[in-house]
Amino acid sequence: MTAADEIKIKKIKESKLSQISLENIPFGKYFTDHMFEMDYHNGEWQQPIIRPYEPIMMDPSTAALHYGQAIFEGIKAYKNKDGEAFIFRPHDNIKRFNASAVRMQMPTVPEDIFMEGLRTLINLEQNWIPNQEDHSLYIRPFMYSSDEMIGVRPSEDYKFLIILSPTGPYYNTPMRIYVEEQYVRAVPGGVGYAKAAGNYGAAMYATAQAKLKGYDQVLWTDAFEHKYIQECGTMNVFFIIGDKAITPDLGAGTILAGITRDSVMVTLAQLGLTVEERELSIDEIISAHQSGLLKEVFGTGTAATISLIKELKYKDYIMSFDVNSWKIAPEVKNRLNQIRYGQIEDPYGWMVKV
Ligand SMILES: *Cc1c(COP(=O)(O)O)cnc(C)c1O
Repeated sequence: MTAADEIKIKKIKESKLSQISLENIPFGKYFTDHMFEMDYHNGEWQQPIIRPYEPIMMDPSTAALHYGQAIFEGIKAYKNKDGEAFIFRPHDNIKRFNASAVRMQMPTVPEDIFMEGLRTLINLEQNWIPNQEDHSLYIRPFMYSSDEMIGVRPSEDYKFLIILSPTGPYYNTPMRIYVEEQYVRAVPGGVGYAKAAGNYGAAMYATAQAKLKGYDQVLWTDAFEHKYIQECGTMNVFFIIGDKAITPDLGAGTILAGITRDSVMVTLAQLGLTVEERELSIDEIISAHQSGLLKEVFGTGTAATISLIKELKYKDYIMSFDVNSWKIAPEVKNRLNQIRYGQIEDPYGWMVKV
């Protein structure tokens, strides 16, 4: 298989789009008419196909269901005011996908085929990209091991798919966050930096416990001392302390290298803040709060974009914020949205035309 080979296209008879309103459509619930599919077999990728979106038949012994070789990505496509479709930083997602694949002992997907698959599929589904504010087309590429055999070893066969879901605003209300001190998401040497399915299953119990206490998400801390901040649910976190924006560094491989995180760092620097990627302890956050220097706290991710955090709880210490007075997070969100929706020039080459 080379990128020059045609992607086979099998179209649906009638689009589902006429039965769906895209306005305020909930995240991840509706999928477009077609999907991209490519199988890995005999040590190579086979002919890719775009075909109607439908359930996949699976043998009960399918390896991914038992041993969890499964990875994914989250990307968004937007329409500008002229109705042209653009994808936000897809090459970065493709690189991260392949880094996840390597860590999970899975085959990588050649970047040109991946990109061509994205382009061809989105092109076909153009009408599914909403053009309201804070709306977009969420792109979910994923891969799983598809050997039909029970045995703990890397699979020989894999399935790579891309599905698309039109989406409205994700978390629109400011969040209450519980600083986690008992459960752990990632350790050095582990898979925290990979977008591997098991990371999310492993986080659900702790998150549910925090929800019982009235919180929306946990803020993960390091496994050894529960002292250093990692990230939050499916978001990286930023703390505005004085005139600095601080976010945990990626050093130990315990944090997902968010593409929104990177875009936000660039934007914060553009706004004149000093951006620091470094170890950040909960003690430093608390003392900044006590001295009045902790100005804003927010999460960043493709699904959520920028999510304001209105409360942080650590042990018995609660930090509450009046998010309505914040200037920086809303301005960052605004600038990123202006680039995404083509309202201002994109100086970074982030928007890739479909
Ligand atoms: C996907 C994800 C993020 C955000 O990454 P983006 O590239 O900005 O979408 C952050 N943390 C985790 C654990 C994630 O899975």
